[in-house]
Amino acid sequence: MNNVRSVPNENNDDGIIISSASNVFYLCGYDCGGDGTIVSSNGKTVLFTDRRYTEEAARRVNAEVEVRDGGLPEIAAFFRENGAKRISFEAEAVSCAEYTRLKDAISGVELVPTVGAVEKLRAVKSSRELSRIADAQKITDKVFEEILPLIKEGITEYELAAKLEYAIRSKGAELAFDSIVAFGTNGSSPHAHRSAAVLKKGDLVTMDFGAKLDGYCSDMTRTVACGYVNDAQRSAYGAVLEANTLCVAKIRAGMTCREADSLARERLKIHGLDGYFVHSLGHGVGIDIHEAPYLSQRSDEVLTEGNVVTVEPGVYLEGLFGIRIEDMVVVKDGCCIDLTGSDKDLIIL
Ligand code: ZN
Ligand code: ZN
Repeated sequence: MNNVRSVPNENNDDGIIISSASNVFYLCGYDCGGDGTIVSSNGKTVLFTDRRYTEEAARRVNAEVEVRDGGLPEIAAFFRENGAKRISFEAEAVSCAEYTRLKDAISGVELVPTVGAVEKLRAVKSSRELSRIADAQKITDKVFEEILPLIKEGITEYELAAKLEYAIRSKGAELAFDSIVAFGTNGSSPHAHRSAAVLKKGDLVTMDFGAKLDGYCSDMTRTVACGYVNDAQRSAYGAVLEANTLCVAKIRAGMTCREADSLARERLKIHGLDGYFVHSLGHGVGIDIHEAPYLSQRSDEVLTEGNVVTVEPGVYLEGLFGIRIEDMVVVKDGCCIDLTGSDKDLIIL
């Protein structure tokens, strides 16, 4: 796994071009910040990048990969040297303008679009990848513990988000994504943009954040309360927690993504809250914060061992509040293992 030869060659093409930055990192082990292309033909694999990256890349790429300084003309020459006539390219990673430039540069060669070939491999994590994801989540758990005493009446969403992100970066990690911090009524938008809103007693605080370590992401959401909770908040929190824990207990290999999503939806229905669960249950996490598989009503995909997915049921009541509890689990040995260590019981600060 983790090399170009393991990418399915369904069209029997005699060459492949990998342009997606995340797929390049997955296949060669080095992140060129989006300025690298992997090409392979005739048993040879080359990473073409520029002088900003070639030196470090040569030290860090997987053994089978050769690093060269170059762009489109050099890529075209590589395929000519290897006599390639049909080359597959990643349709979702190449813009229309890039496709036109590629076609002009490699004239006389048939370009065949492919979708999701590397992403399919990435959905099943190796033990090395799993340990990187688990380490990223450990940082996220530690940040949550540190941030709780700072959640006080009077703080703004901007300030709390900045403190969260400072804590992640101080531990040597990157941000897996821009953190979501939403107070009170702002929480009813699942992906609310942070604002100057000031925390007051009776508000729920939703924090969705994650660290990225050694190229791998973590993702967690916790909802806590400031001062006190009313009955509606308390019972909705209990329902979301039930849905979360039920999914963590039941998700396993062999289940479809739709079945996983239904577990949460049906549990929230018992509480009359399924109509307020306005997004899907979860998504894969790895090099990208959102990647295959997607736990949704629209997916018949079957979960397999080694998938890392989030379990993030939520309810969103417009003009009132929002609650989401998100853990990250790995599908393993007939069950799933929760990689998230942070407490899920309702915390009132
Ligand atoms: Zn999240
Ligand atoms: Zn998520």
